[in-house]
Amino acid sequence: MTISPNSDVQPAYSTDLETHAQNSSKSEKLNLENIRQKGIYVIENSNDESASVASMLAKSGFEKIFSTTHQNTADKSLLRKIQQDANNTDLILLDITHNGLSGLEFCRKIHDLKLFHDTPLIIIASKNIWHEDFIYSAFLAGAIDIIFKPVQRLELIPRVISSLLLKTERDLRKNHKIELENELAERKVIEARLQYLVSHDELTGLCNRRRLEQALETAVFHSKRKNYTSALLYIDLDQFKVINDAEGHATGDRFLMSIANQLRQGIHKDNILARISSDEYSILVENTTDEKARGLAEKLRRSIDGYRFSTNDKDYHIGASIGVAMILPEEDLTASEILARSTQACFEAKTHGRNMVHMFSHDDLETHIIRNAANWVPKIRDAIENNRLCMHYQPVIDVTNGKITGHEALIRMIDYNGKLVTPDSFIPIAERMGLIRDIDFWVINHVIDVLHKLPEKYDHQTININLSMYAFQDPALLPLVCNKLATTGVAANRITFEITETAAVSNYANTRRMIKQLRKLGCCFALDDFGTGFSSFNYIKQFPVDYLKIDGCFIRNLTHDQVDQRLVKSMIDVAKTLNKKIVAEYVENEEILNLLKKYGIDLAQGYYIGAPKADLQYN
Ligand code: C2E
Ligand code: MG
Ligand code: MG
Repeated sequence: MTISPNSDVQPAYSTDLETHAQNSSKSEKLNLENIRQKGIYVIENSNDESASVASMLAKSGFEKIFSTTHQNTADKSLLRKIQQDANNTDLILLDITHNGLSGLEFCRKIHDLKLFHDTPLIIIASKNIWHEDFIYSAFLAGAIDIIFKPVQRLELIPRVISSLLLKTERDLRKNHKIELENELAERKVIEARLQYLVSHDELTGLCNRRRLEQALETAVFHSKRKNYTSALLYIDLDQFKVINDAEGHATGDRFLMSIANQLRQGIHKDNILARISSDEYSILVENTTDEKARGLAEKLRRSIDGYRFSTNDKDYHIGASIGVAMILPEEDLTASEILARSTQACFEAKTHGRNMVHMFSHDDLETHIIRNAANWVPKIRDAIENNRLCMHYQPVIDVTNGKITGHEALIRMIDYNGKLVTPDSFIPIAERMGLIRDIDFWVINHVIDVLHKLPEKYDHQTININLSMYAFQDPALLPLVCNKLATTGVAANRITFEITETAAVSNYANTRRMIKQLRKLGCCFALDDFGTGFSSFNYIKQFPVDYLKIDGCFIRNLTHDQVDQRLVKSMIDVAKTLNKKIVAEYVENEEILNLLKKYGIDLAQGYYIGAPKADLQYN
């Protein structure tokens, strides 16, 4: 039977628990309310004339009391009945007044049931039975407390409450343990996924560039050690852009996946197949010959050439240009040099008419550099000399108040037709052809002049300057910055130099020394493209920068990509632990900004906040 709450309680007075609750603080009140909701199972002795324990509990405000009566605990059906009735039981009160030792046996049976394993049990026994041995046996049988007859509410209620609190505590601990176990399991899955992502391409499941580079290093080592030749194939799809533009990215992605499968089928399982950029694949074949490598490349080219991709009633056919570079035991090349050779050979295949295979040769490299340099060097030199470089400025905001704190300066070149050329087209060539020093120094002079000319009310505004990795190894950098700041009177802390993660680690000792000197002057530093070089997390700890700037590739799809969300959160954690400010770029919409705000980012920039413009922007 179930006793209805407060059945024998007079409406004129409050229950014990209510009176207490009225005098308690809100959090205690909540606890008492919770306690009153706990299920108590009372197993009473029907031969007993003393007051019913169940009704005493009801009088004290307990709402979920289940009770059953028995004549003798030896009754076999009793245990079955208790199990059936006792759902959500938080405490058992077992009256064994007339049963003595067989009552204790029954207590043990209840305690041994899995259902009641964590449920506290209080024995109610006759005073006549009082004996230390009996008490000891009762605890051994699983009881946590004993109350002797006649039972008084005064004694019963505190012990019931204390037992229920004990149960609540146990439950909380158990739940917490389960939560921790779940969290640990989830973290392991995420770590495994991140580990996978670090070495694999998400779209095709093939190895990524990073994994390929590792395999290349091993192949170079094997080639020397075992004295054999290996080959690297570089495959670039001809005009993949056509499908992507005509059919959209989703179809483009499907196409790239089917090409990955096509290639997979054409190679041996020991070869390493990687996707290294959007429409570029690479295959590493160990222990082969020029002849065989050329044969494999030709076979793959034919297979792609013969492949038809159908979508929306249209059949697409595209070709592939394949470059092959050999890894020879007698040559002392690094992984990136071999990769560069295969890229170069692929470039040759493209320029010779596409959809063909080209084997790397030293003559190709020479001609390529000369051809490009011949085009670009005079253009860049002319731009530097004739003032056809200019800066655009992208605003950076403090996300806590939306105020613009400064700008990032981004260089542009004005070509002969007056059109703007973005830095990706000319900075890499300038770096290679020794023109970058002039550009870096021009930018520093130009930006400090701009700050100098700003009206006084913008005195607190800052500008970020991107410098090439060569600048930090140039002893002339420090005096240049020093003199320019001194002659213009611009405060050093208004300049933040941005250095990419890869540049920062490439000549670590020198770069670090230069950064320290410039920081001593008062300039700030930001680590640009943070997150793209996973290996340098250790360097970051020791790297003297003020800001970490999360690379845009983690931010762009933030609202849709859970892996990016995890990574960005952990980057923010790293920054906070190292006491550095954290910046996000590529903030392209409001949702991304709001999410970043929630994660605790400090500064943000991106098209949503403001695109780079020729003038500085203020709010
Ligand atoms: P960065 O320093 O990471 O600059 C961010 C780039 O992202 C800029 O491209 C900027 O226009 C673009 N961007 C800004 N907001 C968004 C957005 O919301 N979405 C997208 N998709 N893009 C956004 P930009 O100006 O073409 O610069 C490219 C890279 O060239 C820079 O990357 C930097 O590494 C280099 N660079 C730029 N200016 C200079 C310079 O003065 N000197 C040197 N040495 N390198 C420079
Ligand atoms: Mg930058
Ligand atoms: Mg960046």
